Amino acid sequence: MLASEQRAAASQLYLDRNRPSFDNDDPFVACAISKDFLDQWRQFLRYPTRNVPPNSIVNAPLLCPHEKFVFNPECDEEMDGANEELCYVWQHEWNTLTQTYPYDHVITVTKSVTEGDVRELVTSPDVCTECCYARIQERAQHVENYRYGTIYVRKITKDHSEKDIEQALNDSASSKDGYSFDPDFQTPPDSKKPKLNRDSRNRRSSRHRKQRGEVSLTVGSTETLRDVKLQLMKSFSVMPMDQHLTLNGVPLSNNDATLITLGIKPGSLLLLQIDEPQGAISQDALPVSNAPEEGFKGTGLLGHL
Ligand SMILES: [Zn+2]
Repeated sequence: MLASEQRAAASQLYLDRNRPSFDNDDPFVACAISKDFLDQWRQFLRYPTRNVPPNSIVNAPLLCPHEKFVFNPECDEEMDGANEELCYVWQHEWNTLTQTYPYDHVITVTKSVTEGDVRELVTSPDVCTECCYARIQERAQHVENYRYGTIYVRKITKDHSEKDIEQALNDSASSKDGYSFDPDFQTPPDSKKPKLNRDSRNRRSSRHRKQRGEVSLTVGSTETLRDVKLQLMKSFSVMPMDQHLTLNGVPLSNNDATLITLGIKPGSLLLLQIDEPQGAISQDALPVSNAPEEGFKGTGLLGHL
């Protein structure tokens, strides 16, 4: 097709209007297409005499070594960088484009809405959760200002020996074993958290091994230490003032400092020590029955508790 014909046949795509949205409840089939192609295509249609048309639609970079789709349409596009790599086009637009341009891979996303108004996105090929997760983490590690980095916080109790703590610090410094899930450790339900990546050795090297009693938090570089403590308050039911965090043995004390200034990066492991509040009544000291028995009232016995 000539440039003018293409422009007429796919005018909405050319003008970047009426794009498929995964947020609403209209069922549809959309196709993923490389953003490089679209950029060049739009340039060409805009100035057909000055610009060369794209050769072909190259979608291979959108697939992982397992030949699966490496972007999850359920994810925030900024978080996984999808908006930098691809666009979704309507199926009829894909058909129009592929009349003119050869292509390597067809990637579709089918959105359906079940009777209970549950939205379902099915991609073809499937989303590779491992590669998708690995890419998000790697992305976060390479941008100084990250928005969705994963950090780990391990609670150190009195029962932990100094050796344990040293071990934890060594783990966080080298973490050569890669990320894995402890099958006994109950991770919070999080459907967006895919599993580990087993394939890419260089990616594994920076991955942290999550252990029992450890939580992972999703944080941004501009959040403060206080923000982290507020998240930890939910995980460990401990007030921020009773939380003492260290990074590589260095105490983190300035609650107003941002994570970036504290040197906390995606993959960092913080150790958490918790103060027992002063004058707290331990469980052993409490009477077995919560309600004092009538007979003790006024005898002075309660005063000792
Ligand atoms: Zn993969």
